[in-house]
Amino acid sequence: MPQLAKRVGRAKPSAIMVIATKAKQLKAAGRDIISFSIGVPNFLPGEHVYAAAREALKHDSGQYGSNRGADALLDAFLRHIEALGFSGYSHANLSVGIGAKQVLYNLAEAMLDEGDEIAFAAPYWTTYHDIADIVGAKVNVLHCGPAQNYKLTPSQLDAALARKPKVFLFNNPSNPTGMVYTREEIAALADVLAKHPDTWIITDDIYNTMVFDGIGYHNFVFAKPELKDRLVFVDSVSKTYGMPGWRVGLIAGPESVAKAITTLNSNHITSVPEVITAAAVAALSGPQDIPHEKCVEFARRRDIVMDGLNAIPGVSCPRPQGAFYAFPDISVAFGKSHSGTKITNDVEFCAALLDAKGVACVPGSAFGEPRALRISYTCPFEQLQPGIERIQEFFAELA
Ligand code: PLP
Repeated sequence: MPQLAKRVGRAKPSAIMVIATKAKQLKAAGRDIISFSIGVPNFLPGEHVYAAAREALKHDSGQYGSNRGADALLDAFLRHIEALGFSGYSHANLSVGIGAKQVLYNLAEAMLDEGDEIAFAAPYWTTYHDIADIVGAKVNVLHCGPAQNYKLTPSQLDAALARKPKVFLFNNPSNPTGMVYTREEIAALADVLAKHPDTWIITDDIYNTMVFDGIGYHNFVFAKPELKDRLVFVDSVSKTYGMPGWRVGLIAGPESVAKAITTLNSNHITSVPEVITAAAVAALSGPQDIPHEKCVEFARRRDIVMDGLNAIPGVSCPRPQGAFYAFPDISVAFGKSHSGTKITNDVEFCAALLDAKGVACVPGSAFGEPRALRISYTCPFEQLQPGIERIQEFFAELA
């Protein structure tokens, strides 16, 4: 019997999908389920996006497209990143992929040989570890617990970079914590990055339009433009425009990296389809009122979630200021029981919560922080308060 490659064995099925699937099954079986599990936007793209896709379909050439991305898409992305604060980029700095996930995988292939080190903070988006494992990289996880608001400190970064990792991967706003780094925090980390010239920097900032409380979106290159030579900014239309299934991710970075990604594209995907490209162009360059409205709505939802969590004795949750996640520390429950079921860790907590109250959350260990769980608050609005109340009840019933 032939054996599969070792790298497949290193890839784990997504813990998020495991809990989301269980929630779906329970729902199908007639249970009243509220799902805080999966991180998908709860809105559709604007009508102009569908109109652009329909129009493109009429003229679709049916041909392969550019490995780098169509000129119209690169133009639209360039304008988009300039509005965010990036400057001095041209098409030669850009490339495309089938979602940010595939872009990140491409970047790992482009930058990491087997045995090379990649450093990133925990809590981290689950896929980071899996991608590193698939390409055979060594991972240095920089633990940033709730006491430091889940944020990386300059001294932690300095110590990590002293090991000369090939790649430092950063995520702001954060999935799973919803944390957003302030201008000052980014500048302090950028100072450290500038001292360590041997490391590539990837900033996966796909939630950059979902920032609350007037903090704004900041990138290391805004503080230290010289980092531009080795920093890659990753973006996506998935969350900003309600288009997760359309699968368009983009990068802006050094020409050598954009060229490498484009070469990998020519072997992996060839191109993003024409119709999808037209939709992404419309999203990036059309009216931006939907992302703005959603940002306001998510901030309101964040307040509801935080008020509910703060009312639970012993539970603490650093206040999210972006994306659509909250990441409370629920370790106060460990060692207690619910309906006779002993809870010793986050996985058992989430299983018991789903079982007893029909609320699906993702265990924090999936993100490298086993004291917490992730709440994704994009469920139908009318389920938000009841879902949080069920979590409150669950805690009140612990013995
Ligand atoms: N990066 C982060 C931090 C994410 O949360 C996600 C999706 O959840 C992605 C990247 C992948 O996005 P895409 O849908 O563009 O592949």
